[in-house]
Amino acid sequence: MARSKVSIIGGGPAGSVAALTLHKLGHDVTVYERSRFPRYRIGESLLPGTMSILQRLGLQEKLDAQNYVKKPSATFLWGQDQAPWTFSFAAPKVAPWVFDHAVQVDRRQFDQLLLEEARNRGVTVLEEANVTEVDISRPDGVTLTVRHNGETLHPESDFVIDAGGANSPLARQLGVRRYDEFYKNFAIWSYFTMKDPFEGDLKGTTYSITFEDGWVWMIPVKDDVYSVGLVVDRDKAGEVRELGADEFYRSTLAKCAGAVEILGDAPQVDEVRIVHDWSYEAESFSADRYFLCGDAACFTDPLFSQGVHLASQSAVCAAASIDRIARDEAESQAVHAWYNRTYRSAYEEYHEFLASFYTYASFTEPDSEFWRKRRITESDDERLSRRTWFEKLAGGGADGNGVTVPNFHDRAATMITIGKHQRKGLSDEFSEEELNGARVRWISDLTKRLNSITRLRWSGDKALLKPYYRVDRTTFRLEPREILANEEGLDMAHYPLDEETRQVFQELAEEEFGYRDLIKRLRGAGHQEIGTQLVLRLMEAGLLSGYDKNGDRVIVQGRLHFGGVGVEYEV
Ligand SMILES: Cc1cc2nc3c(=O)[nH]c(=O)nc-3n(C[C@H](O)[C@H](O)[C@H](O)COP(=O)(O)OP(=O)(O)OC[C@H]3O[C@@H](n4cnc5c(N)ncnc54)[C@H](O)[C@@H]3O)c2cc1C
Repeated sequence: MARSKVSIIGGGPAGSVAALTLHKLGHDVTVYERSRFPRYRIGESLLPGTMSILQRLGLQEKLDAQNYVKKPSATFLWGQDQAPWTFSFAAPKVAPWVFDHAVQVDRRQFDQLLLEEARNRGVTVLEEANVTEVDISRPDGVTLTVRHNGETLHPESDFVIDAGGANSPLARQLGVRRYDEFYKNFAIWSYFTMKDPFEGDLKGTTYSITFEDGWVWMIPVKDDVYSVGLVVDRDKAGEVRELGADEFYRSTLAKCAGAVEILGDAPQVDEVRIVHDWSYEAESFSADRYFLCGDAACFTDPLFSQGVHLASQSAVCAAASIDRIARDEAESQAVHAWYNRTYRSAYEEYHEFLASFYTYASFTEPDSEFWRKRRITESDDERLSRRTWFEKLAGGGADGNGVTVPNFHDRAATMITIGKHQRKGLSDEFSEEELNGARVRWISDLTKRLNSITRLRWSGDKALLKPYYRVDRTTFRLEPREILANEEGLDMAHYPLDEETRQVFQELAEEEFGYRDLIKRLRGAGHQEIGTQLVLRLMEAGLLSGYDKNGDRVIVQGRLHFGGVGVEYEV
C-alpha cells in the first residue's frame, strides 16, 4: 500500500497542514470540518517556524498577498518594576525557509486560506460535516460516523488524523486526556480599534504584561484592530458569574496599568469571549491507525504563541508518519514511537519554558496570589512528583546533569537578561541593537565556561548510534536516521549523527579530554557549525558533563530551548 486513504477530522491549522502535506506525498485525503468557514478562532500571533513549514509547502505567495502584520518579536513586561524584555526572531536568512519574523493573523481568514488551498490542490473538503464517532477497532483501517447535510455517512479509510482541536472526538472517546493542575487558568478577551501604538523595532510585536491577577496579551492583529486578552486564575469564574463577562473584563483589565497606558481611550469594538479548558495532554498521541494532531493531542498556556506552530509541526510529522507506514507496515511501531516522542518533547519544551517564566514572575510579584500559586519551589513535592516532565528536568540535579529548582528560575532569568531593554518604559526609542551588548556578554560568558572545561566525561562506557527518524525539509518524507546514545538508554534526539561522530564520542568514553579538543575533533567529523550546540544538547540529555582544571563541575547555562523560533533546524 503506497497510496493511502486518509480521513482528517477538523480543518483548522493542524487539519489543513496535514492535508497539504499528505497531498504533496501523494495520498488521497478527505477533511471533515464541523463548521462552515470562515469561522472564529483565537490564536492570532504566529511563530517563524510556522512560516517555514508553509513556505516549504508552497504557500509563500498566497501568504505574501495578505499583507499580514509582520511580527518581529515578542515583548514582555514581565514582573513588577522590570524593564521590558524582547525575544527577537532576528536571524540571518541562510535559506528561503528560515524566517526572521512571524505574522499576526485574523484566524477566520488565515484558517480559511489554508483550507481553501488544500481544496484547490485536490483534497476533498466537506464542511458542516460533524464527526460523531471514530471506529478504530479494525486492524487495517478506520470508519467514521459523520453527520453531513442531514445524512449519516460512514466513510472508511486506511488512517485517521484527529485534528479536531480541544473538541477532538477521538481523544474524548479514548478518554486519554489528562488536565494539568498547574495552569488552572482561563482567558477572557476582546478587540479594540487602535493602530499599533509603536513604530520602529517594536512595531508588530506581541506584548505580554504581568499584573497582580495574571497577565495580559496585546496583539496588533491587522490595520486598526488590537486583540487584548487576560489570562487569570480559574477561581475568578465566580466573579465572572457575579459581574457578567463584560464588567469582569473591563474591571480586571483596569488593574493592569501597563495595558491601560497603551490602550488609552481606544474603543472596545467586539464582544467579550472566554475560554476555559486549559492545559492538557493525551496519554498517547498515536497508535495503529490513528494520529492526534495539534490541540487534539495537547494544549498549554498560550504565553509564547506556540499553538499554531505545534499544530502545524505535529501535522507534518503525522502526515510523514502515515506516508512511511503506508510504504512499510513493518515499521509501524517504530514510527509511532517516533511521532509520540517528537510531538511530546516539543510540547514539553514549551511547558518547561512556561513553568520557568511563571516561576520567575512569581518572585517579582510577591504579593500576588495568582503568581504565588504558580511558583515551582523545592518544597512543592506533590507538584514535582506529578509532573513527569519536571521530574526528568529536576531529576539529574544532584549530580548536575539535570536542572535544580533554583537554577530552573535562573534559566528564565538568563533569557530575560539577554533581551532586556535599557529603559523601563516601552517606547519607539527601543532598537534591536540595544540588545547586542547583552547578547555579546552572554555568548562570551558561555564561551569562557565551555573553554574552562579541561575534562569532559561521557556518561557510560559506550557511545552508540540508535535508529531514529527525521522529516526531510523539502520532500516531507520521513527518513531513517541515527542518533547518539549510551548503553543505559540515554540519548540525544535533536541532531541525527553518523558513525564518524560516534567514534569521536567513543574516544571520549575511553579517554576523557577537554572541550576545545572535542570541538576540534568534531570539526574533523564535519561539524564546523554545530559543535557547541551538540555539546550543549548532549549536556542537557545527561550524556556529557564537564570539569575544570581543579576538578570542579562546570555548569553551563544554555538558553532555554523551544521549537518554532528558528534557532535550530526543526520540522
Ligand atoms: C486564549 C488562547 C490564546 C491563544 N493564543 C495563541 C496565539 O497567540 N498563537 C498561537 O499560535 N496559538 C494560540 N492559541 C492556541 C491556538 O488557538 C490553537 O493551538 C490552534 O488553533 C490549534 O489548531 P488546531 O488545528 O489543532 O485546532 P483548531 O484551530 O481548534 O481547529 C479544530 C477544527 O476542528 C473542527 N472540529 C472539531 N470537532 C470536530 C468534529 N467532531 N468533526 C469535524 N470537525 C471538528 C473545529 O470546527 C475546528 O475548525 C491560543 C489559544 C487560546 C485558548
